[in-house]
Amino acid sequence: MTDLITTHANADFDALASMVAARKLYPGARLVLPGSQERAVREFMSLCSDLVKIEYEKDASLENVTRLIIVETRLKSRIGKMAQLVGKKGVEVHIYDHHPRTDGDVKAAKDIYKKTGASTTILVELIKDREIKISPLEATIMALGIYEDTGSLTFPTTTREDVDMVSFLISNGADLHLVSSYLRGELTEKELRLLALLIQSTEVHVINSVHVAIAAITSEEYVDDLSLLAHKLEDAENFNLIFLMVQTRDRVQFIARSALPFVNVSKVAALFGGGGHPSASGAVIRDMNLVEAKAKLIEYLRSHIHSDIKAKELVTGKPVELKIDEPVSGASEKLVKALCEYAVIKDNGQVEGITSLKDLDRAVSLGFGHARVKGYMSRKIFPVKPDTSIYAIQDMIQEKDVGCVPVFDGGNLLGLVTRSDVLRAFHGRLFAAAAGGELKEPRGVTVNITPRIKKTFPAKMAELLRFAGRLAEETGFTAFAVGGFVRDLLLGVVNFDVDIVIEGNAIEYAKRLSKELCGVYVYHKRFGTATVFCPCPAGIAPSRSSGGKFRIDIAMTRTEIYEKPAALPTVKFGPIENDLYRRDFTINAMAFRLSRHHFGELLDPFNGRADLKDGTIRALHDLSFVDDPTRIFRAVRFEQRFDFKIEPRTENLIKKAVGLKMVDRTQKQRIREELIAILSEEKPLKAVRRLSELNELRFIDPDLTLKSKNIELFSAAEEALAWYDNTHTGNRHALERWLVYLAVLLDELDPAQVKKICGDFVFRKADAAKIISYKKNADRVLAAISKKEKLRASEVYGHLEGLSHEVMVALMAKTPSQAARRRIMSYMTKYAHVKLDLRGDDLKKAGIEPGPHFKELIKKTLHAKLDGKIKTKDGELAFALQHYRR
Ligand code: ATP
Repeated sequence: MTDLITTHANADFDALASMVAARKLYPGARLVLPGSQERAVREFMSLCSDLVKIEYEKDASLENVTRLIIVETRLKSRIGKMAQLVGKKGVEVHIYDHHPRTDGDVKAAKDIYKKTGASTTILVELIKDREIKISPLEATIMALGIYEDTGSLTFPTTTREDVDMVSFLISNGADLHLVSSYLRGELTEKELRLLALLIQSTEVHVINSVHVAIAAITSEEYVDDLSLLAHKLEDAENFNLIFLMVQTRDRVQFIARSALPFVNVSKVAALFGGGGHPSASGAVIRDMNLVEAKAKLIEYLRSHIHSDIKAKELVTGKPVELKIDEPVSGASEKLVKALCEYAVIKDNGQVEGITSLKDLDRAVSLGFGHARVKGYMSRKIFPVKPDTSIYAIQDMIQEKDVGCVPVFDGGNLLGLVTRSDVLRAFHGRLFAAAAGGELKEPRGVTVNITPRIKKTFPAKMAELLRFAGRLAEETGFTAFAVGGFVRDLLLGVVNFDVDIVIEGNAIEYAKRLSKELCGVYVYHKRFGTATVFCPCPAGIAPSRSSGGKFRIDIAMTRTEIYEKPAALPTVKFGPIENDLYRRDFTINAMAFRLSRHHFGELLDPFNGRADLKDGTIRALHDLSFVDDPTRIFRAVRFEQRFDFKIEPRTENLIKKAVGLKMVDRTQKQRIREELIAILSEEKPLKAVRRLSELNELRFIDPDLTLKSKNIELFSAAEEALAWYDNTHTGNRHALERWLVYLAVLLDELDPAQVKKICGDFVFRKADAAKIISYKKNADRVLAAISKKEKLRASEVYGHLEGLSHEVMVALMAKTPSQAARRRIMSYMTKYAHVKLDLRGDDLKKAGIEPGPHFKELIKKTLHAKLDGKIKTKDGELAFALQHYRR
């Protein structure tokens, strides 16, 4: 008797491990793999090919096989040429699989099915029961199988048996180091590229009210691990139902994922001859091209996606009931306490109407808290029955434009179904939040940071934030403080740059806020954002670049879609969760609520607070730097500013994006802004060094590297700037520190290269002029003012006159000459302030004809004053006249 064990093509670790486990039950059986395998599996097998003997179908003979053992699938179409053995006389078939049985399955003499997270688990249980000995290597392979198919025991499909068998395998010597090194985490460059293509091609179809994402692309080569990409795409884009199709030369790879209980994607895969689980399935399509397969998919979904959810399943409990003559303010409190958006209003036991928290709150804010709820309810109610379908409810909510419908079982009120309930059922939590008024789930609230706000800011600031929240509510919107402002607050850093996001119309809100605060607002049309400038409240310093005013930046909460890597994203309205997800790092992806009843509640979906504590910079997802390569500079900037560490996975993602030369595809102006931001940091050298380590100075100029000379120049620039700050205290911000650092960074390049950089990065004219002036004048001026012999003040003045402060500070950094440095200092602190008392009018009155010589005369007189030759206004006039006559 010859036993042959096989599994499905494109074997993953669960398939491989199931085969290895099956051989323990069928000692002496041959293991034959059909088709190709996932990349990680191939790599693993090449490592242990001597220890685990495996044949490939192309070399395997099927002669004399009397028993075929199929694991991890029960579909004939997935086992390659071993399908020839199915139904062959004299061949008995045994199956071990955790996929639910379907009609098209291979008929087997023995068919073991169990609902476990991994097929391996079923086989390991048998091994354990029969007390069969296994080696540590076998235990490791089997553990890999279970870990992989259960997402390291985290997928909802994981069962207690999976966990128990992992523990059995560990006690049999499974090596978890090896396991974790093979479990796929990061994407390769090729996969990153493919993922970017998939994202780019994703179309969202609304089919029978369900959002369906379909990504269809053509690829030169077969994609090893499409299911991993599906997983990443699901994660990155939060789709609840996704279909991926990749056309290679002779086939279309198909993968489907569903997080919706009423869409079983194993049935969809069956349409193409594949199979799987209700939530994850796949197929290899050979008889259709991409276009045909996609059309067939959509046609099928149109007639098959139907939710059978009924009203009774959507109701989440007894509604809040109010009496018709209750005062509005008390009623509003009741709803807030019950975390409900709507309440029914009863009179004599009969439902008379429905009211919403929003309406009640609006009444309170307008001063009608004492009024009766009767005046703030809608008498138009549209009752539904417990068996009414979700589609009918959805139509009713839309047509009648109501926020909810009551569900009656005869005369008995079961509860309310709200618009959010319907959206949540169709699209999961994220979309539900977009409907607004999401009170049932506190959206990952972890902590209330009001005490920290009080501790960090003057009282007026907290007042202002509360006011901003209240105003949003009055307008029917929800407001959050977000981003760097929240990060700094948690770090205890006082930052008055308030960033507010609004679930609602941000511009309308900005208009109202500026009016209430007696300020003005500026609308940034290109970004759909606004800035409000208002008088500074007591104790609050004006923010940077706000001309002495207090500044509040306002944007709507949005979802960003990166249609092309490195290009600017398409932006549309989305709930706060999406808004946080589009941000750069976990520490910048936190918000807190400004609304009255939830003021200070922190939203921290990515554990940014923990990363702040640990000092970690962490990207939110694998595509972060592909989507927006400017984040590379931001990561480096925050790492150095806070003395944090970019965590290893994020650093790897950066390295991959650097390898893909993503920065070259980014708008140069955006990179310029990030470069300016880095060079504006208190100590930019650290960040520049880090960029150089990551080989990202290359983006400025291919020849630019950080040499020890530049490093010395940076330190010298720091000292020169420190001197400048001390001597120009009132005037510190007039000097653009970043220009000084840029000048020293570019010191090694020749003038033509520097000019090109200024043009390429579109530096502002005045800034470019300063950088170029440094390049052009540095050597000449320094040679002139470094002379050992005495120079008159007027001579120093003549050399330095007209140079900007930035250029002079950069010259101070560059020169090794003490004398030159002293002369520049004297110029900036003394000579530059010497002015003549003599005016042009005085010269005219003294009989000097106006003309070009005026200027020359004034200059000579000034030089004489600088050199101490004249002290008084009369002296100045006498000197001028004397020279005029000459
Ligand atoms: P700083 O203290 O340097 O001003 P910041 O975090 O406030 O730091 P901003 O550039 O003002 O930086 O950005 C405000 C917020 O916008 C950030 O905290 C982050 O949430 C988000 N953000 C800015 N740039 C990006 C980007 N390129 N990608 C994703 N999110 C970004």
